[in-house]
Formats: sequence, C-alpha cells, structure tokens
Amino acid sequence: MVILGLGSNVGDRLSHLRKARTAIQHIPGILIKQTSPIYLSDALLPENAPPEWDMPHLNLAIRCETTLEPLALLKQLKHIEWTIGRKPEIRHWGPRILDIDILAWDDLTIQSELLTVPHASLQDRPFALWPLADVAPLWIFPLAGPNQGKPAALIVEKWGSRFTGNAPLHTQQIYHRIDTPRLVGIVNVTPDSFSDGGTFLNPSHALQHMLHLANSGAEVLDIGAESTAPNAVALDIDTEWARLEPILATIKAVQASCFVAPKISVDTRHSLIAAKALNFGIDWINDVSGLDDPAMREIVAQSAADCVVMHHMSIPEQRGHVLPRDQDPVNLVYAWGEKRLDELEKQGIARERMIFDPGIGFGKMAEQSLLLLKHAHIFTQLGTRILIGHSRKTFLSLLSGMPFAERDMETMAMTLYLAQQSVDYIRVHNVEACARGLRVAQAME
Ligand code: ADP
Ligand code: MG
Repeated sequence: MVILGLGSNVGDRLSHLRKARTAIQHIPGILIKQTSPIYLSDALLPENAPPEWDMPHLNLAIRCETTLEPLALLKQLKHIEWTIGRKPEIRHWGPRILDIDILAWDDLTIQSELLTVPHASLQDRPFALWPLADVAPLWIFPLAGPNQGKPAALIVEKWGSRFTGNAPLHTQQIYHRIDTPRLVGIVNVTPDSFSDGGTFLNPSHALQHMLHLANSGAEVLDIGAESTAPNAVALDIDTEWARLEPILATIKAVQASCFVAPKISVDTRHSLIAAKALNFGIDWINDVSGLDDPAMREIVAQSAADCVVMHHMSIPEQRGHVLPRDQDPVNLVYAWGEKRLDELEKQGIARERMIFDPGIGFGKMAEQSLLLLKHAHIFTQLGTRILIGHSRKTFLSLLSGMPFAERDMETMAMTLYLAQQSVDYIRVHNVEACARGLRVAQAME
C-alpha cells in the first residue's frame, strides 16, 4: 500500500488534480483504491517569499497498490507533474501547478538523496496527514519519536475537527471532490421556475445563494433567467437580460470569495443573450434547445466557452409531445446526440468543448426518464463529457408524493446512483445535500 499526496495552488487547481489522478490510474502496475476528500490550506512559504506566492493550496491523498519499486514510481510521478505543466522551480516552495509526493509506503522507511519515505515533516502537516488518515487511518508511523507506532488516525487527533480551519495553516476539508461527478448548482433568477421560482430574483439573494452553492461543492453555477418548466411563459430577451445582467455583474466578486472559484454557466436558448453574457467572461453556455438556432451555433463557435447540448422534443415544452413509446428511448436520444454533436463539430465547435445532456423530463414520460438515468453511462460513448439534470423533476412523482421543492432526498439518492456511472456533471438545486451524500459514499470505497 502506497499513499500519494497531491497538491496544487496555481490556476484551475481541481482540474490539475483531476488530470493527475487520471494519469496515475494509467501508470502500468498501479491500482488506485481510494481518493481522499480535498483540504484547503494556506501556502507554506519560505522567508521573504513574494506576496504573490501566498495562494491557497488544495491537497488530497490517494491510496494505491503497486508492483513498482519506489524509485520507479517516483520517476513516473515526476513525469506526470511535468506533463501536466509543472515548471522547474527557481526557488523551493514557490507556487506549483502540481506536486505529487510519496507520503507513505507500508512500514517502509527510506532516507536517500532522491527519496525520503515517509515524506519529510508529514506528521506536522495537516494538509498531508489528514487526507492520509482519511484513506489509511490504520497506517502506523514508523519513525523514531513521539509518534512512533501510532496510527495516522490517532496522530491527527491533535488538530481537532477537520472542518473548522483552526489547524496549522488554517487547513480545512472542503466539499469538492475529484473522484465523483462534478456538481453544477442551479441559480434560477425567475419568477416561475417549477421548484424555486421567485426565490432568487433579488440579486443579493442570488449572490448569497451562489456563495452557498459554491462553498457546498458546486464547481459550476448555472444561471438561468427563463424557466423552461411546462407552464412557464416564454420570455422576451429584454426581460431575460434585465434579470441576468445584475447577477453577471456580481460573478467576479462571488468567484473571489469562494473556497474554489466556480465556473459560470448561463442557461439560455437565445443567441443574443449568449453573446452579451460571453462578454462577462462566462465559461459555459447551457442551451436547453441543444443549439437548434444557427445563430447560437455561430456565437458558441466563435467563443472559447464550453456548451451544454441538451436533447429535447420541443421548447417550450408541449405536454404529451414525448419520445415514441414503442422504441427504446436510450437509442433514440443517443442517435439524436450523435447527429447533433457531429453537426456542431462541423460548424466549428470542438468535441472537447461540448457536454451532452440527455434532457431528463424534456419530451419524455417518467418511465422513459428512468430508463435514460439507468443507462446514463452509455452516453459517455458519444465522445463528449455528459451532464445529467434530474433534480426534483416530475419523473420523481413515480417514487415520491412530495411537492417539487421537497424532493432533495430523492434527488440525492439518484445522484449517488449516477456517480456509479461515470457521469461527468450533475446539475442540481441542492448541491449541499448531494455533496454530503457523495462524501459518505466515497468514504465506503
Ligand atoms: P516537496 O514536494 O518536498 O515540496 P518537490 O516536489 O520540489 O518538493 O520535490 C523535490 C525533490 O524531493 C524531488 O525531486 C524528489 O527527488 C525529492 N523527494 C524526496 N522524498 C520524496 C517523496 N517522498 N516524494 C516525492 N519526492 C520526494
Ligand atoms: Mg514533491
């Protein structure tokens, strides 16, 4: 058993860590057994470090089994650091895109020029020993001194709770993970959304809500001003923009005050709105009409943004206009996706920028939605990332008598199911509930 420690404090830290985990998975002779939660901590700085080095780190640990020798593994890890973009350091402890260390290796102790195992100062660093204790609580500290013979779980007790930020370097566990689907938090600035219409129309409420979603584990915030619920009124674009603009004006402030700056998505099917929103530096366009409109295709193609391409039958929704009942809905939606994604690629949107959404509840009977969820992994074969939006939707009426706004338990249970299916993104109202559920599930790996 070997425990690796991963850290990053520059750029898109979660993305670097996620890429590193995938690369580790592909090293021949290594098998990942468990990934820890993520810890946020202040940078450990050398004396007289320039102020711009003071950027918080994200750290985690990965427990593996391996047939490799220590130095062979170290070489592979250095190679991954380098390919993901770590530059040679001018000075030790400077900002780094990616650091991968060997924290511990069974009861092995190594003191050589290239390798020190357990990692130096491990016992004094909560950002290293806490995640280690999450994935290997019974690992015994092998070196001489007050901790010799003690399990990791006991040594970390001196720091108290993982969640208060009272430990050295203000280290604390956060809700994001790199081993589960990424959570997309829904921000409805509408009067008529089906489960929370009217709640966040006021920009200061929306702002509070966005902060809460992001600090609860949302990696993306999806802001929408037009409801696509069956009875919602279609919106003129002036009203749509009047609702969106004050929210978009706050996104830089929101991003700066979150543990991890969320990416911003705008949920719109109108190309003019998309064009204006892109000027605010947003990251995604989420178009429930699957980019039906050629003008939308053009605007997305000209931008650098990612786009969500959703399957639907008709927008606005027409009741009863659903997929044919005598055919397999998974095949139908897959075939639609294949055709649509090919078209969009030919029109200048690279597949790496697209995210496919099978459109749960859009032109589907409840039973058809359940089948799509059951086979969600099939859509990964389309060659894009995939997103599922099942939160509080009508199909849950098959399983719950609760009103729409009170279906977060059902939504969370379905999220845990989808996490087993390699879905990339899950778009939900209650991010906190889903993040809490996912953490429990991952602790049992
Ligand atoms: P650190 O991670 O200690 O801040 P670096 O990542 O810059 O430092 O690594 C510098 C050197 O530390 C590496 O080239 C490597 O040879 C050496 N090293 C010693 N012990 C370890 C270990 N347990 N894991 C990874 N690198 C180690
Ligand atoms: Mg290192």
